[in-house]
Amino acid sequence: MESGSNIIIVGAGFGGLMCSKTFSDLGVKSTVIYDGDLEHTSSFYAQGGIAGAWLAEDSSVKHMEDTILAGDGLCDTNVVQYFCKKAPELIRRLIKLGVPFDKLSDDEYRLTKEGAHSFSRIFHVKDYTGHAIIQTLVNHLKNDDNVTFLNESVKGLIQCESSNKVVGVCLTNQEL
Ligand SMILES: Cc1cc2nc3c(=O)[nH]c(=O)nc-3n(C[C@H](O)[C@H](O)[C@H](O)COP(=O)(O)OP(=O)(O)OC[C@H]3O[C@@H](n4cnc5c(N)ncnc54)[C@H](O)[C@@H]3O)c2cc1C
Repeated sequence: MESGSNIIIVGAGFGGLMCSKTFSDLGVKSTVIYDGDLEHTSSFYAQGGIAGAWLAEDSSVKHMEDTILAGDGLCDTNVVQYFCKKAPELIRRLIKLGVPFDKLSDDEYRLTKEGAHSFSRIFHVKDYTGHAIIQTLVNHLKNDDNVTFLNESVKGLIQCESSNKVVGVCLTNQEL
């Protein structure tokens, strides 16, 4: 692991890249381990877009109600509530990072409405939203001294015997 890096992040999809960006913004170094290449993640292939209550007449409560209805009993209500509440803030963060979501005008986004959504609340970049987000994040992180990319496969987790907490990972020829 890169000297001084004390955080290991497994995966370089939205989850891993946003996590390493968040640590870096706090001045914390991380190593992002990913299998295969950066373009073979579900995140890269996600097309439709990201939902967040944005319009004045919409709300995170309505977003949550729509999601739970669509989930038909399969949703964890606490998780849905958390993400629906956080969504506008996270979308604002992606905008600030430079994700070029489609717009109708300088100050209006071209939001779409699909599935069970009762309001237009889906931000997208044409039909390659995931690709655009990954590209934006990678552009930020590739020259970031706080971030090291490691193209390796994680074969197992190293856990502390007493607490069961994960304290490291096993790679093909080394442990971190
Ligand atoms: C075709 C498609 C369309 C989609 N459209 C949408 C959409 O419109 N809107 C939406 O919200 N969601 C959509 N999704 C779902 C969304 O893409 C995923 O929920 C999201 O990308 C998951 O992100 P992630 O970071 O958790 O995982 P991923 O993007 O899958 O990244 C996983 C990472 O983990 C790494 N990894 C896995 N195993 C190992 C290992 N053993 N060792 C090292 N690294 C490993 C991989 O290399 C990869 O970098 C879509 C998914 C697909 C496949």
